[in-house]
Amino acid sequence: MRHFAVVGSGPAGFYTTEALAKAYGDQARIDILDRYPVPYGLIRFGVAPDHQSLKAVSKRYDKVAETAGVGFIGNVCVGADVSVDELLEHYDAVILAIGAPHDRKLGIPGEDLPGVIGSAEFVGWYNGHPDFADLDPPLDGTHAAVIGNGNVALDVARILSKTRAEFEGSDIVGHALEALDRSAIRTISLLGRRGPHQIAMTPKELGELGHLEAALPLVDLGDFPPVEADQGLEPGQRKSVTILREFNNIRANKPKSMVFDFFAKPLSIEGDGRAEHLIVERTELDEKGGARGTGETYEVPASLIVSCIGYSTPPIAGVPYDDRGGKFLNDKGRIAERLYAVGWARRGPTGTIGTNRPDGYEVAEAIAAAMPADVDGGRIGGEGLKRLLGTRGVKATDFADWRRIEAAEEAAARAGSPREKMVRIDEWLHTLGH
Ligand SMILES: Cc1cc2nc3c(=O)[nH]c(=O)nc-3n(C[C@H](O)[C@H](O)[C@H](O)COP(=O)(O)OP(=O)(O)OC[C@H]3O[C@@H](n4cnc5c(N)ncnc54)[C@H](O)[C@@H]3O)c2cc1C
Repeated sequence: MRHFAVVGSGPAGFYTTEALAKAYGDQARIDILDRYPVPYGLIRFGVAPDHQSLKAVSKRYDKVAETAGVGFIGNVCVGADVSVDELLEHYDAVILAIGAPHDRKLGIPGEDLPGVIGSAEFVGWYNGHPDFADLDPPLDGTHAAVIGNGNVALDVARILSKTRAEFEGSDIVGHALEALDRSAIRTISLLGRRGPHQIAMTPKELGELGHLEAALPLVDLGDFPPVEADQGLEPGQRKSVTILREFNNIRANKPKSMVFDFFAKPLSIEGDGRAEHLIVERTELDEKGGARGTGETYEVPASLIVSCIGYSTPPIAGVPYDDRGGKFLNDKGRIAERLYAVGWARRGPTGTIGTNRPDGYEVAEAIAAAMPADVDGGRIGGEGLKRLLGTRGVKATDFADWRRIEAAEEAAARAGSPREKMVRIDEWLHTLGH
């Protein structure tokens, strides 16, 4: 019998578990560990609440969790409650699938002023992440700025601009819905250091902006290269750029606007005790396609500034770390003997949910090649881990607990709309009688 610990129950953790379960059948026990008593990582806490069809992928993960030989050990933070070395004592292999939950810093003066928020915090707030339930982002000003030109920036801008009615059918948490409903924000600037051809926004997500009830996307065609240049783009990117260009043809009067401010590099954030505006430098593309400052600066008013410029994986003691990449040092997912990384902890914060599937399968195959199923590794897996956690007073939760929390949330959803997620660890544990 083999014992595997998959640390993290986001997409990467589940795809890896699925692949290991297929490879080993009844010859392995796989425990999925998570710091929270509920699973799915960014599917629960990251993917936008108004994108329910994407969140439905969790049904596939449920099936994996129900597979014989697969267990869930929640409310355990690896690196704090138990070390990786201790896991390696109990398991034949440990696979780190902890994602990249930390916001990258802007690295400019003023970024610690109240009103400047990282996207992990802001997105966590509207998605019911327990760490950010009390964030209380300032929505009392008329101007907000979103820094970054990727899909997360689009999510943030869209959520800031939607009406209450547009959240119907979403699972946005009540505290965020109420606050957004009262929001005074009318102008949302989307700042990107480079131009329209360099965006990392996908057509579907961009296209949505053209159909918002109360907000109009605005572009300046002067920022675009000649339309013939779009032919040189990869088809998906060409589609995105075409959608951007077409925003210029929308004729409508709406109370809110989303202003695409290209070639805009934030230099600093200023304000009297809180963010009031950004100082931005106009840029141009250099020979290598990077952003080069032109020396021209201007102000962008914003009392809420959300930076969406990427994420990093937190280091864990004893695990080799790639400081530049903000992820674990690894070679095709292998960190060291019997220790692996998958998903964002392996590759950094890029790719879609589906990108984590081949990634997880590749690592599972490498493990299966290194550890034959018919050899007993001599370790006792979850039994030993739970004993150890017990001696430390860690209240680990299991699959039945996760189901009880979900049932309580579903009961709350039936009682009112929109769905009310529990947003505090103590609420979760209270539900479980801990
Ligand atoms: C705001 C946002 C929106 C997105 N929207 C989309 C979208 O619409 N479509 C799409 O395809 N992709 C989307 N993505 C990308 C997608 O969410 C990621 O590709 C995917 O979640 C990465 O999976 P992961 O398993 O590596 O990490 P995660 O999903 O982050 O999972 C990591 C898990 O590890 C757990 N964990 C962390 N640290 C520890 C620890 N020390 N001990 C134990 N457990 C730990 C966490 O609780 C979590 O459950 C979005 C990403 C973000 C940030």
